[in-house]
Amino acid sequence: MRAILTLNAGSSSLKLGLFSEDLETLAMGHVDRIGGAGGLKLTDGAGGALPVPEAGPEGFATNAAALQTALTAFRGAFPALEVVAVGHRVVHGGIHHAAPERVTETLMAELAQLAPFAPLHQPHNLAGVRAALEAFPQAPQIACFDTAFHRNHPFVNDSFALPRRFYEKGVRRYGFHGLSYDYISGELAACEPALHAGRVVVAHLGSGASMCGLKGGQSIASTMGFSALDGLPMGTRSGQIDPGVLLYLMDQEGMSSAQISDLLYKDSGLKGMSGISNDMRELEASNDPHAQEAIDYFTFRIRRELGGLAAALGGIDALVFCGGIGENSAHIRARVCEGMEWLGITLDAGANAANAREIAHGPVRVLTIPTNEEIVIARAARGVLRG
Ligand code: ADP
Repeated sequence: MRAILTLNAGSSSLKLGLFSEDLETLAMGHVDRIGGAGGLKLTDGAGGALPVPEAGPEGFATNAAALQTALTAFRGAFPALEVVAVGHRVVHGGIHHAAPERVTETLMAELAQLAPFAPLHQPHNLAGVRAALEAFPQAPQIACFDTAFHRNHPFVNDSFALPRRFYEKGVRRYGFHGLSYDYISGELAACEPALHAGRVVVAHLGSGASMCGLKGGQSIASTMGFSALDGLPMGTRSGQIDPGVLLYLMDQEGMSSAQISDLLYKDSGLKGMSGISNDMRELEASNDPHAQEAIDYFTFRIRRELGGLAAALGGIDALVFCGGIGENSAHIRARVCEGMEWLGITLDAGANAANAREIAHGPVRVLTIPTNEEIVIARAARGVLRG
């Protein structure tokens, strides 16, 4: 059976997708705790659980080992499996890489040079590509960049007010979650062409969270900037922070850049504010006032950015929620939309509680659309296969 494999390799997780050449979903896999206890979950195209073979900690010791463990499981479910192309999520394409590209040693060297722009993501993404190159030396490998969707946004959303030389060196607002926004834009084009042609704010609310303003299906502004730290607070990331705080942490608290990096990427956001968890489900279930304050801050920042993006778009025709929180949490969607009638948003409480696709009845439409970054990668891989 000929299939396209997609990989999204993180610091301690690996997400896999297996697609037919007609882009039918065959299976999805999720490995977590790589380098630790390790675990693999596998589902079929309909979301039903698939059997996972026994694998000790060595089966999850590295990205390459985790990939082999997941492939063994895929081969158990699809004995005649033949992987004909592998598509990869690569967080950073820098200034020069936007369209999906076939992986070569030259491209790998260029992408490795972008690691300082995304030190906590890029090296792991590239380790995933290396592991797949070893596993499938004959299959074309295609890199798909999370920055790509935003590359044509206007200069005012591409730059910081720093001396020009930094811009030339690549200190720019890149924006991320581009594969997710690309998918949502495509869904709108297919199902809601009038909205696709108009002004839409998409809120991708997952462990990582950002928002994007779409005009005519193109990104014109995003809440994430140079790094995946900017904008909204996230599970463990701070989101927007006054740069003066960082100077204070260095000068007065004596923190090193590595300590500040850990603080901002791993110990802040919902986890840091609540002192309880980075998981929205746990915070919603908690009566602890700090959990409630973390949710208050999260929704407050989304509402502020919604207003800002609506201004950047010159108005708004629709708000789209996606990501684990956006797709599943009626509570957070209600909190975001509360009192937004001034913007044209009137939530339909029943539809929202039922996780319906259309959840408002005001002049601004509000939709929940499950995102699918894997299919965007698979489409790109198929595109390369078909020349
Ligand atoms: P990632 O960015 O790792 O892909 P996801 O998009 O899966 O993350 O989102 C993970 C987040 O979604 C977690 O904070 C989780 O608590 C939240 N989430 C998932 N389901 C629900 C739910 N039913 N209610 C509230 N939050 C949820």
